[in-house]
Amino acid sequence: MRTQVAIVGGGPSGLLLGQLLHRAGIDTVVLERRSRDYVLSRVRAGVLETGLVDLMHEAGVGERMDREGFIHDGTLIANGDEQFRIDFHRLTGRHVMVYGQTEVTRDLYEARDAAGALTLHDCRGVKPHDLDTAAPFVTFLRDGAVHRLDCDFVAGCDGYHGPCRQEIPTEVRREYEKTYPFGWLGVLSETPPVSDELIYANSARGFALCSMRNATLSRYYIQCDLSDSPDDWTDDMFWEELKRRIPAEAAERLETGPSIEKSIAPLRSFVCEPMRWGRLFLCGDAAHIVPPTGAKGLNTAASDVHYLSNALKRFYHDRDDEGLERYSETALARIWKTERFSWWFSSLMHRYPDQSAFDLRIQQAELAFLRDNEAAQKAMAESYVGLPY
Ligand SMILES: Cc1cc2nc3c(=O)[nH]c(=O)nc-3n(C[C@H](O)[C@H](O)[C@H](O)COP(=O)(O)OP(=O)(O)OC[C@H]3O[C@@H](n4cnc5c(N)ncnc54)[C@H](O)[C@@H]3O)c2cc1C
Repeated sequence: MRTQVAIVGGGPSGLLLGQLLHRAGIDTVVLERRSRDYVLSRVRAGVLETGLVDLMHEAGVGERMDREGFIHDGTLIANGDEQFRIDFHRLTGRHVMVYGQTEVTRDLYEARDAAGALTLHDCRGVKPHDLDTAAPFVTFLRDGAVHRLDCDFVAGCDGYHGPCRQEIPTEVRREYEKTYPFGWLGVLSETPPVSDELIYANSARGFALCSMRNATLSRYYIQCDLSDSPDDWTDDMFWEELKRRIPAEAAERLETGPSIEKSIAPLRSFVCEPMRWGRLFLCGDAAHIVPPTGAKGLNTAASDVHYLSNALKRFYHDRDDEGLERYSETALARIWKTERFSWWFSSLMHRYPDQSAFDLRIQQAELAFLRDNEAAQKAMAESYVGLPY
């Protein structure tokens, strides 16, 4: 088999890149380790920056999102029983869109099928080769046979645990990591959201987030110990704990119901540099991870896809490789600013096991500063709706 761009990973990065390239007349093959049903059942992100919304339109898949997504002009920050609002629209003239990652992925798969572009699921042992030559290729096992895919470039869109990042030699690769001493226990329930806008809550018992997917589907999270397992938490225990962490008036309104998904995610900040090695280009979680506070994971993946798709278009259409040469530097400049925001917002909203009385006072002062200071709110709103590409 031969293609122009071999895309490893059929998550949102790989699919969005494939769709943008397809519309520019550039051929791709997506190699995905899992079945399509498995990929589509992963409940993850749900808040899209304007940049990602625009990319969905550019990829020709914005129609259902426009119809079913919810525009949010602001968000609520709670501190104990006190609550204030960050008005994105007033502060930045922009907003975010609530539309689940599962829906983004579904729309992209359907568009890819309709375009007749090749996606191979259940690929095992995917391995890129000869990345430092002009003729790289990828081998993989599928249906009991070894296959070879020749290509011009390999896009490593294979998430944090994928094999592509490991192909960058260790003497070249630098990895920066911070782990957080807690996780998020998340519950999806077929109940109306407690609020029209997200509530990020700092409470003496730890962080909580009230989020949603649509008018009848809610996503709630609470900060939990890393040693916890979802089975330790019955639905009743989860709802009781959530109610204790959000303002009393929201707790009274909260409609509870059986969880249809319950999982724990550890929190991590991670960046791999560079994001390019020879003819390999990393995108999304393959190169960087943010803690989910502020909903930047999927959005940062999208900004990589923006830079890489434009660089590849320049290469194929204008024979200009400057975008590819500068890809890593350009993408990383935005990623580090987003890493900073996600780290800052996580530090502001969580209770840390080793937090001293001084640390706590500083956190409270920072929350009060954000509540009272318009410049601080504007800085937060600009990052939340998404820094420009
Ligand atoms: C539990 C969880 C909750 C999250 N919640 C949020 C949130 O609330 N808000 C937010 O903004 N972000 C959230 N994120 C982050 C967000 O989901 C990711 O940033 C986003 O999925 C990145 O997309 P991606 O395509 O780069 O990587 P992924 O979605 O990880 O996709 C990578 C794909 O590569 C495939 N793959 C892996 N290895 C191989 C291989 N060897 N061969 C072939 N294919 C392979 C995987 O199966 C997968 O389909 C969450 C992440 C997790 C894990």
